[in-house]
Amino acid sequence: MSYDCDVKRIQNLPLSDVRKELLGVHGVGNETADSILLYAFHFPTFVVDAYTMRLFKRYPLDAGKTYVQVKKFIESRIPADVLVYNRFHALIVQNGKEHCKKKALCEGCPLEGSCKKCFD
Ligand code: SF4
Repeated sequence: MSYDCDVKRIQNLPLSDVRKELLGVHGVGNETADSILLYAFHFPTFVVDAYTMRLFKRYPLDAGKTYVQVKKFIESRIPADVLVYNRFHALIVQNGKEHCKKKALCEGCPLEGSCKKCFD
């Protein structure tokens, strides 16, 4: 559908409809669609990326294994708020860059001591 670059018009549509439409665009997957929805259109939808998947794989929570499972897990526990989702994701990214890298640097991580990885 064409929106003539009318962002407000898009923002007034149901999130699920816009998400579905984005996912119908060749080359747009879940992460790209959610990034556009959250960061460009300010829809309250959580972006799951590689940092998020890694963290939730290591932390002792049964968040699921797929993009959709982890997204649903987070969204069912954190209020649907653009700023909250934005900041929570930013914190996960920051922690992923500073500590929860491919090879985890657990020393000094804010989750050190409560993370599954610490007890491996
Ligand atoms: S304690 Fe280690 S494995 Fe757990 S989140 Fe921090 S860096 Fe990652």
